[in-house]
Amino acid sequence: MSVLITGIGELTTNDEEWGQLKDAALVLDSGLVAWLGPATRAPMADLKVDVAGRAVLPGWVDSHTHLAFAGDRTAEFGARMAGAPYQAGGIAVTVAATRAATDTQLASTLRRHVAEATNQGTTYLETKTGYGLTVADEVRAAKLAAEHADEVTFLGAHLVPNGMDADDYVDLVRGPMLDAVAPHVRWADVFCETGAFDADQSRAVLTAAAARGLGLRVHGNQLGFGPGVALAVELGAASVDHCTYLTPSDVDALAGSDTVATLLPACDLSTRQPLPAARALLDAGATVALATNCNPGSSYTSSMAFCVATAVLQMRMSVIEAVRAATWGGARALRREAGDGAVGVLRPGSRADVHVLDAPSVTHLAYRPGVPLTHAVWRAGLRVR
Ligand SMILES: [Zn+2]
Repeated sequence: MSVLITGIGELTTNDEEWGQLKDAALVLDSGLVAWLGPATRAPMADLKVDVAGRAVLPGWVDSHTHLAFAGDRTAEFGARMAGAPYQAGGIAVTVAATRAATDTQLASTLRRHVAEATNQGTTYLETKTGYGLTVADEVRAAKLAAEHADEVTFLGAHLVPNGMDADDYVDLVRGPMLDAVAPHVRWADVFCETGAFDADQSRAVLTAAAARGLGLRVHGNQLGFGPGVALAVELGAASVDHCTYLTPSDVDALAGSDTVATLLPACDLSTRQPLPAARALLDAGATVALATNCNPGSSYTSSMAFCVATAVLQMRMSVIEAVRAATWGGARALRREAGDGAVGVLRPGSRADVHVLDAPSVTHLAYRPGVPLTHAVWRAGLRVR
């Protein structure tokens, strides 16, 4: 059934040719955008929905979440807000709870958080393994994640499990664990950080994953300056995520590469780190994405709108830059921004992922921070809210 969405006061397309339109309409058919243009010239469709002057944009693309988890870290968060430092080792608490959870419990948690994101306008979502850290637990997480998320990333190299030698664990991750998980995932990732994996260990995991045909992502430069960004660029990773501590040469390396700088401002706020230098990255010509990093330890939010508002109000991104980073940027970080069925963009042939705001302009996302502005959502042409 085709759907005509008309009465669009402001249509943000992220497409160079179409730009931002006023008084526009969209036709969705067979899961794709079939037509867009001025409302006065819109063709007929099976169903007509008049959005009465509201703003329409592509659905959010959340390119970085960790939703295959169990357990609760409220107490740790409370302690951190009372002054305790954030350390990578907190992940071990979630690992223990995740291993102890049943498949049903993990699936229920995934379903609940994906639904929560969808209700806020997220229509394309990546999630990761990384709270299993045994061959069996990582395979289980990958299979369950694939049932609920659009993209799944293998993050066996999230943390060295308690009681294991780091180099022995790297050999397990890049050998038997990778062999078992690879059929269920598209990406591999590593937490390249002091307290997690160093540059050589990270490179060993990523090169093995690339040899298995997986695309690469890196968690880097989150808690301090480090080798993550340089390694991601060296290996041609699709994205390096966090980028909280960047040197001028890191910025130059990203600007001269196809590696997306994925910024996770909700995580930086939740861990009381400085916010990343989005302005320096954009001004240098790097591609920037915004994502939630939704996880129970360092960033327990599924709100892309919160990330956009923070990026505008505190990171000096313009509204258009922030909206683009949270849609097209995320799609680029997942290499899904081009061709038929592209996400993060609205143009004929793109996937019909449509977010209608209860506002006349995307500017309200920052002008009215914290206000739930999602009015309606279509995902691949189906109304999901
Ligand atoms: Zn993460």
